[in-house]
Amino acid sequence: MIKVVKFGGSSVANATQFQKVKDIVCKEKERKYIIVSACGKESFEDYKVTDLLYLCEAHIRYHVSYESLFTLVEDKYKRIKKELDLQIDLEKEFNVIKTAMDKGNITTDFLVSRGEYLTAKCMAEYIGADFVDAADIIVFDYDGEVNFEETKKRIQKIKTKNKIVIPGFYGALPNGMVKVMSRGGSDVSGSVIANVVDADMYENWTDVSGVLVADPRIIHHPMRIDYITYSELRGMSYMGANVLHDHAIFAVRQKGIPINIRNTNEPDNPGTIIVDHIDKKKDKPLAVTGIVGKRDFSIITLTKNHSSAEIGFLRKVLSIFEVYKVSIESVPITVDTFSLIIKAEAIEHYIYEIIGRIKEDIRPDEIILQEHVSLIAVVGRGMQAVPGMSGRLLSEFGRNEINIKVINQTADELCIVVGVENKDFEKAIQCIYDRFVVEEGRK
Ligand code: ASP
Repeated sequence: MIKVVKFGGSSVANATQFQKVKDIVCKEKERKYIIVSACGKESFEDYKVTDLLYLCEAHIRYHVSYESLFTLVEDKYKRIKKELDLQIDLEKEFNVIKTAMDKGNITTDFLVSRGEYLTAKCMAEYIGADFVDAADIIVFDYDGEVNFEETKKRIQKIKTKNKIVIPGFYGALPNGMVKVMSRGGSDVSGSVIANVVDADMYENWTDVSGVLVADPRIIHHPMRIDYITYSELRGMSYMGANVLHDHAIFAVRQKGIPINIRNTNEPDNPGTIIVDHIDKKKDKPLAVTGIVGKRDFSIITLTKNHSSAEIGFLRKVLSIFEVYKVSIESVPITVDTFSLIIKAEAIEHYIYEIIGRIKEDIRPDEIILQEHVSLIAVVGRGMQAVPGMSGRLLSEFGRNEINIKVINQTADELCIVVGVENKDFEKAIQCIYDRFVVEEGRK
């Protein structure tokens, strides 16, 4: 059994967090590949190392002294070294970075990757593991895509019985130059490593005890989700649940490797397991797995007599949005009328231009713009083939006097999206939670 374990920035923010990581890693011999982020914030006022490094880069670009910023980075690692009594020669490591910055021959990617590099160096020494540089094993093609075949070959060359600590967030191009992923990319590093070593489990350690049914800023102490499928999670993340980097699912899903979201500060909590399929015999999910939502959408509703029978009508309208590079969230349709739901910020600068184009090119009988709409997605594999589910859901809105603007559900029955006025956003989430999670959970 092999586990890949990834620790996010808050899990490695200081010496106390390092100790927690060591306890977790040493508790199971299966936890062999350890991926770490750069040190995150210790408190609300603190800084993330990666943010500081990006700031250093901006200072260098504008010929402003970076020194006071880089000192903040140095101080963080020096404190960790001192408190954990490490031997690492930090001065040497800092000098390599500072010399390159002074000479102006440092790439942004190399500079901002140093947070993960330094964390991994310190962590490897602290837990008595081998350090392996991500630049030596995670290989990107020149188009920025991970080259799994080459990455697998490289990792197979590392013959060691020991645990291995690998910095997250970066790898290297075929010419050896360091390349970083997008922000939060250590999740992706963990997922890539899990894929190439054919791990049995990818543990993603963070500061929450798994995926929550709803946003804790709206629902007081929402329940944790024990099991969720990748598709459900995708629906939840798209609609605002901030769990994992979007690209982190692809590489593990391809190999059917489960992801376990765990809390470094509460290691006995089993967290949430994300899988492709859950055995139908064992799985008795509630109808609703998660409730997520986003505010501030606009709805443009078009009516044109006989348009339902006109081939290509919808395409013509959508192509106008394509010109403005605006992506459409959803398109509910009835007879001769359809609505386009769009993020308000995506069209704020050209909304009236777009409406003008639609009037000119499409000549609708009526066009209505509604603003300040929130979308709420009710996600759940337990809704599939349950007669009356949408009826019960919608009547809950009625009972709570919440007016529904739009409803959308696709035939996979995994997600029902309801649009309400922004002012009803929190209330709607609360009433669905009370009815479908609290009440039904009690039965
Ligand atoms: N340190 C990087 C960031 O802050 C990557 C990560 O933490 O996953 O985005």
